[in-house]
Amino acid sequence: MVTAYVALGANLGAAVATLKQACVSMNALPLCRVEKTSRLYKTAPLETLPGHAPGSDYINAVVEIQTTWPAPVLLQQLQQIEHSAGRQRPYINAPRTLDLDLLLYGSGSIDSANLTVPHPRMWQRAFVLVPLAEVAPGLVDAWRLQAVQSQAINMLDDRL
Ligand code: ADP
Ligand code: MG
Repeated sequence: MVTAYVALGANLGAAVATLKQACVSMNALPLCRVEKTSRLYKTAPLETLPGHAPGSDYINAVVEIQTTWPAPVLLQQLQQIEHSAGRQRPYINAPRTLDLDLLLYGSGSIDSANLTVPHPRMWQRAFVLVPLAEVAPGLVDAWRLQAVQSQAINMLDDRL
């Protein structure tokens, strides 16, 4: 079993419901179990924030999973769940019904054409680091959180 972390995000459609359904779908995958879930967070889609383009507010969360899938297969499964949620990619950083990014896969480093782990932009994003620190405090050093503290994110009174 490998412990992996997945960031969930959405800013089109019923984003909260979509994220909750995505969590259920991940847990329903064979050889995959959702072990921990973060609260839901809301972030304005600031153009200055890497990965957030104009559009409605984003809902974000992070889950810890245990899986025996190799990372590339796990990514394919995550992309299938995105697809089931109606994900389309009309242009880079387009508003999305569901985005599932593989943040960390055990202690592995992967740099292939369609998969980079650790996720290359995760350390610049409060909407990833804050929920990640909630499920895995030991993985996010205090200075990492301080580095993104100017990015306003709102914790919702709801969780996955
Ligand atoms: P975004 O970077 O905004 O999340 P997409 O979700 O459209 O954009 O992903 C674009 C591509 O990023 C995917 O086709 C996928 O192959 C690639 N990719 C590389 N590394 C990762 C990762 N760690 N998690 C998810 N996708 C990844
Ligand atoms: Mg993505």
